[in-house]
Amino acid sequence: MNSRRDFLQKVSLGIGVTALAGLPASAAAPSAPVVRAEKQLRVAIMGLGGYANIVAEAMQKCTMATLVGVVSGTPSKVDTWKKKYNIPDKNTYNYETVSEIKNNPDIDIVYVTTPNSLHHKHVLQIAATGKHVICEKPVADNAKQTREMIAACEKAGVKFYIGYRLHFEPHTRELIRMRESGELGKIMHVNNYMGFKSGDPTQWRLKKALAGGGAMMDVGVYALNGARYCTGEEPIWVTAQETKTDPIKFKEVDETITFQLGFPSGVIANCGTTYNFNNFERLYVIGEKGFVELSPAFGYGPIKGRTNAGPMNMPAHIPHQTLQMDGLADIILNNKPDPHITGHEGLKDMIVVDAVYESIRKGGQKIFINKA
Ligand code: NDP
Repeated sequence: MNSRRDFLQKVSLGIGVTALAGLPASAAAPSAPVVRAEKQLRVAIMGLGGYANIVAEAMQKCTMATLVGVVSGTPSKVDTWKKKYNIPDKNTYNYETVSEIKNNPDIDIVYVTTPNSLHHKHVLQIAATGKHVICEKPVADNAKQTREMIAACEKAGVKFYIGYRLHFEPHTRELIRMRESGELGKIMHVNNYMGFKSGDPTQWRLKKALAGGGAMMDVGVYALNGARYCTGEEPIWVTAQETKTDPIKFKEVDETITFQLGFPSGVIANCGTTYNFNNFERLYVIGEKGFVELSPAFGYGPIKGRTNAGPMNMPAHIPHQTLQMDGLADIILNNKPDPHITGHEGLKDMIVVDAVYESIRKGGQKIFINKA
């Protein structure tokens, strides 16, 4: 069990990565040659922007997932991608022709990486083609849209995943393993934050109609999703506060939000997010017997961590998107149980996002979460 592929399979299966600590350094080395498995998950990417490029590059190192198609509104990008990734003409679509993917037996799954507020429409379109879907975070503008996306995928009999890449990341998996095994003892507190200073004031991320919201939607979901995997519980109440230090730039969307999540056990997660300053990225979970601190915790990595026992020694960094796409390929091709990145998991986050915004609208009032 000392190949990189075995490592990927263990991560995707959720097997504790500390068990892999004895592997030779080369076992998980990013420079290891790619040996492709016989069965491949054939992926098309929809929306060829910044993140699509990162996913496509990372997939070059996948053993079980291959980039085979694109959906784009920009013909020049399609030409570039065709040449760069050897994509045949017959696997290229635009937003008007995308429904024709249903007749293409060479595409298994479409990865939606368009702006947030288009996810709902695009996931519904892909579900109607009968192809599986991966959708980037945030799933949609709100829980209502997310429920509609889940219903459309269930009706079409296709799988629906959210691009929560950290669920395949070794430090994050180790933290979850430590919490589940009881090594941390009873969880007592969580303190997570994620934000950055946003640049170009004309970008879609600052426009409500395309972004759905601001920092909370974009990166606050990492702090929130993290609070759920730090505790293994679902929040029952939310309070939130917003401040805008630059009301002109952030006229349409939220700039900086702090929010608190109350869990059934009594644990409170204190979280924050921003679009207006850097160096705001940390996960800290404290139990009666120990703690885990990840910092950086949510970006592309390398993630760094320490526990009460000292620095976390994880295998060499592999791009999260490589781990995610190989992990999903393994699950889909080998009929393995779905991980915690399904549409239903995304819905749990969107219910809390809705409650965060409701609390802010109501002056920080405590919002009790209705699970229905
Ligand atoms: P970009 O703006 O870089 O790319 C979005 C692409 O969507 C565009 O290039 C375009 O591609 C397509 N598109 C279709 N309609 C529109 C429209 N009306 N306006 C703008 N673009 C449009 O965004 P990102 O790649 O940074 O983000 C895309 C999604 O990925 C977001 O939901 C974001 O939250 C998520 N993301 C996730 C990350 C993660 O770590 N999981 C990291 C970064 C982003 P084309 O020209 O081909 O049609």
